Amino acid sequence: MTRHIRKAAVIGAGVMGSGIAAHLANAGVPVLLLDMVPKDVEGNGGGAATVTKAKSRNALVDSAIAKLKKQKPAPLATKSTISLIETGNLEDDFDKLGEVDWIIEVIVENLDAKKALFTRIDAVRKPGTIVTSNTSGISIKAMAEGRSEDFKRHFLGTHFFNPPRYLKLLEVIPTEETDVEVVSFVRDYVENTLGKGVVEAKDTPNFIANRIGTYGLLVTVHEMVKKGYSVGEVDSVTGPLIGRPKSATFRTLDVVGLDTFLHVAKNVYDETTGDEQAMFDPPTFMKEMAKKGWIGAKSGQGFYLKK
Ligand code: NAD
Repeated sequence: MTRHIRKAAVIGAGVMGSGIAAHLANAGVPVLLLDMVPKDVEGNGGGAATVTKAKSRNALVDSAIAKLKKQKPAPLATKSTISLIETGNLEDDFDKLGEVDWIIEVIVENLDAKKALFTRIDAVRKPGTIVTSNTSGISIKAMAEGRSEDFKRHFLGTHFFNPPRYLKLLEVIPTEETDVEVVSFVRDYVENTLGKGVVEAKDTPNFIANRIGTYGLLVTVHEMVKKGYSVGEVDSVTGPLIGRPKSATFRTLDVVGLDTFLHVAKNVYDETTGDEQAMFDPPTFMKEMAKKGWIGAKSGQGFYLKK
């Protein structure tokens, strides 16, 4: 069968979803970008904590679009690229998912939330529509549990890296039930249309890059707590001194989002025991910061203040 991605949808307009939507638009693909209706919009019970005093039902996506226009390095290839991104919310615009050829889930790193969304998607998607998850490491098979046969055959992980326009790697994670034709199409499409280098990963907690990356970061942070180093000291040794001017330990966490990082560490914590598990248990100070909402650039306060 010949497939075409005439239009895609990205669900979740946070750090990654907005960047992935921009990257698709850069490649000339029209995109529908949806997020929840913020909880402080009158008469609505859902929503995320990151936007307060929302003025409209599309406020989460609107604020993501405003950020895309200002962010550096620029997620959008040109100013007019934004016109390829149609915005909406998960209550009023959900049925529009029936019109697209590829749906990319990019919501909070939580199995129950993702499963609830896939149940809704299964009911509106047209048969044959590819559905992928940008999860950092939740089991792809577990997310597909309970879904229709057609959904399972067209479902896999497509793990983009942050920032999506600039980082070349993309992990593709099929399950045993994903059609070989779908995996091959997605690989070819992301390589040739989206300009990515693809690595196929097994459906194990945190796949490849995050299994290694989360471990390395937590080794550093546990050692810092033991030895009493400061955030600045750790960043200078794990950043400029080893030739990574912008991606030192805590600066990376501010870009990723500490809330997301804690969820990603938990993906492996839940599947391990003993010393290995202890390594994936982040120190208390990180959990305390997340509770206060000091989660990085997206909230304005992380290990560093957003300038
Ligand atoms: P984020 O917190 O910036 O955005 C998450 C979005 O999900 C928010 O806009 C929020 O409104 C929405 N959301 C929250 N709960 C929801 C629900 N119950 N139903 C529908 N929408 C809901 O997170 P992010 O960093 O963009 O991460 C999104 C996904 O991408 C996660 O699975 C994460 O592991 C993965 N990821 C993140 C990074 C990174 O560097 N941050 C990199 C690669 C992959």
